[in-house]
Amino acid sequence: MINTKWHEIYDIREGSYSSDFRIHNPLDNSRGDTYSDMQQSWTNLASHESLFEIFDTVNHEALHVALKREDFTIEIEHIIIRKINQVLYNISSI
Ligand SMILES: [Zn+2]
Repeated sequence: MINTKWHEIYDIREGSYSSDFRIHNPLDNSRGDTYSDMQQSWTNLASHESLFEIFDTVNHEALHVALKREDFTIEIEHIIIRKINQVLYNISSI
């Protein structure tokens, strides 16, 4: 069961990151990119096959943006993102 009152439990911090779309990353075939040196993340549309995949990438990059406030390595960020998605999709519990 998904907790619909999560916003009453946790503090929400606002940031100035923007989440934008582009056709592709000119440097590689990534689905999305979040940069540590600028307050911007990208979803690269040509690397996706469906709207669901695009939503998934937007969510993934948004979690990277949130985790950039901490001092994690990219590998630790991906472990945390995987765990968050497992909990959100009821694959595992906290
Ligand atoms: Zn990632």
